[in-house]
Amino acid sequence: ARKLIVGNWKMNGSLAMNAELLNGIRTGLAGIDCDLAICVPFPYLAQSHEALEGTGIALGAQDVSAHAVGAYTGQVSTRMLLDFDCKYVIVGHSERREYCNESDELVANKVQRALAGGLTPIVCVGESLREKEDGKTAEVVGRQIGAVLSVLEEREVCDIVVAYEPVWAIGTGKTPTPTMVEDVHALLREWMVGKNPDAGECVRILYGGSMKPSNAGDFLQRPDIDGGLIGGASLKAEDFLAIARQA
Ligand code: 13P
Repeated sequence: ARKLIVGNWKMNGSLAMNAELLNGIRTGLAGIDCDLAICVPFPYLAQSHEALEGTGIALGAQDVSAHAVGAYTGQVSTRMLLDFDCKYVIVGHSERREYCNESDELVANKVQRALAGGLTPIVCVGESLREKEDGKTAEVVGRQIGAVLSVLEEREVCDIVVAYEPVWAIGTGKTPTPTMVEDVHALLREWMVGKNPDAGECVRILYGGSMKPSNAGDFLQRPDIDGGLIGGASLKAEDFLAIARQA
């Protein structure tokens, strides 16, 4: 599959910073041959939508409500995201699972809602340091993806993107080896194929966690790693583009 590089700005940016970053990305696209997306904070959807128009770079959000519409103070619906032509939404990022207590079940509901609303969910899974040290990576990642697969129709399996983000690699500068990532991706793919035989071909599985220009190639050259979910390095146009050029 064509590789996909997604920037996750997390809770960073300002109108002024974004203007510079978006301009830097827009003007540096030469030599890039992969799909690109940027997931921005809600208040900057309008700005980013305008800045990315005509570039082919897709826009995304970092979360979405599990509800369609109504009395849910502070939440943002799929329909609102569509008003800004969002294509993607990150669901179940480890920072939301941890700081907002998002359960596997809520994550699964959000994935369903995103799909029903015409968005492509980027479903994040990954084990903590403790879980890795206890040898529980497969168990944890299996539980997380299993909760999502259990609510999907067979055909919907092809409509999601999965991001494997080991929690201990996020923002730490530490990374698993590409071989370790491939092992987890192979498991994820196997489980997804169990639900839909086409999933081996149709589903993109990204790696996320301390990806930067100097290590991106190691991951992105592997056929089973279909792209990257980039945090810190997506806040510098130069770095984000340098990663994308290796995809
Ligand atoms: P970093 O690239 O900053 O480690 O963040 C990864 C991540 O969590 C992307 O969603």
